[in-house]
Amino acid sequence: MSKKNNIQELIHLDKKHFIHPTSSIAQQQANGPSAIFTEGKGIYLKDIQGHSYIDGMSSLWNVNVGHGRKELAEAAKEQMEKLAFSSCFSTFSHEPAIRLATKIASLAPRELNAVFFTSGGSEANDTAFKLARHYWLLKGKPNRQKIISRTKSYHGVAMGATSATGLKPFRDFTNSLAPDFYYVDGSSIEELRNVIEQEGAETLAAFITEPIQGAGGVNFAPPGYMQEVRRICDQYGILLITDEVITGFGRTGTFFGIEHDGVIPDMMCFAKGVTSGYAQLGGVVLSETLHQELISLSRETLFHGYTYSGHPMACAVALKNIEIIETEKLVENAKLRGVDLLSGFQEIQSKRNIIGHVRALGLIGAIQIVKNRQTGERFQTPVAPLIVAEAMKQGLICRAVTFDQDTVVFAPPLIITKQEIAELIGRLDKAVAAVEQVLQSKD
Ligand code: PMP
Repeated sequence: MSKKNNIQELIHLDKKHFIHPTSSIAQQQANGPSAIFTEGKGIYLKDIQGHSYIDGMSSLWNVNVGHGRKELAEAAKEQMEKLAFSSCFSTFSHEPAIRLATKIASLAPRELNAVFFTSGGSEANDTAFKLARHYWLLKGKPNRQKIISRTKSYHGVAMGATSATGLKPFRDFTNSLAPDFYYVDGSSIEELRNVIEQEGAETLAAFITEPIQGAGGVNFAPPGYMQEVRRICDQYGILLITDEVITGFGRTGTFFGIEHDGVIPDMMCFAKGVTSGYAQLGGVVLSETLHQELISLSRETLFHGYTYSGHPMACAVALKNIEIIETEKLVENAKLRGVDLLSGFQEIQSKRNIIGHVRALGLIGAIQIVKNRQTGERFQTPVAPLIVAEAMKQGLICRAVTFDQDTVVFAPPLIITKQEIAELIGRLDKAVAAVEQVLQSKD
């Protein structure tokens, strides 16, 4: 079959048989897949037509060590050949899970010390909610079941994780969700206090927050927010869960995002960067106090576990991935290159009128699109998707966020060099300039 016929066949089969996650079905049926990727190397992805792109999102904020790392393929192969799978139920164990739990405990902020493994971030958050509720049952406080989260938050698509997600379109996808989830304005401590007072602390199990909101548009909490949240949770006896699925494993220039705030949660969820996407793995790290309480109060089986909780190959890949992050000093690199990324955004902002607020911490950042920089007025129809489409033509993958805003977000691999940041910024500037020109010609 010729290459062209093969591409046509794949497009046809994609439309006929493949339901894409978090995608527009109408767009897929009209245009086929927007790219069929075939290879990855470093910060670059290549598609079936031979086009090369900078993966400005580390794919789904997860390919932290970059594409094409042979060491990770070898770690997977070695583990699969030795022991591809064995159970962790009923206290069965294996060395990769034991070593990885120990490693994560040593990296996590002090106090966080014991790990429950899942296959991804949604399962990690569901696990945290269930452990919080289970804990209160064990403590003889069965009414403490409610979970509070923040507007614009994203916690995944399992039933509990969706119910905690502040981005309404994800919740409105179905007409009923898990009970006992409540939302507060993501920037208002006042509102958090009010909801606690209204609902009654004796009915609340936990509060969950991302240290920096990712899918909601790379939103930073106001200064001091996390410290105040910790204080309030302590005051009312509510467990604090931080969702580090994006911010973990170096993304923000510290190992975990919460380190910027100096706050220690009771549970911390992780996924994505733990394996850089080379295997499916997530989990929850529990504080020593919580772990000790579970040990002393638990009388029977912990009735919660996934077949792939502690998957040996995924754990072996995670261990090698963390070794790469450490030996190549990628956390430090994220911090330094984050400064370059932000100054690149500022440079574009100084040249292009449609760029409003720009922000970045480590290698997670965003540019806001505005009609009027002085007033912050937005375009009636979001422009970010046009920039993302144009960037794709320039060989740059980034993401539009249009929930309540008009923003383009970025999260390049942590291996990115100064030179590659300059390349990313150059391509982005061309895309912004092209879109600006089209908008001007319409005026
Ligand atoms: N929490 C956050 C903060 C996330 O960004 C994501 C994924 N984008 C999830 C949870 C869900 O993780 P997964 O898709 O692995 O289930």
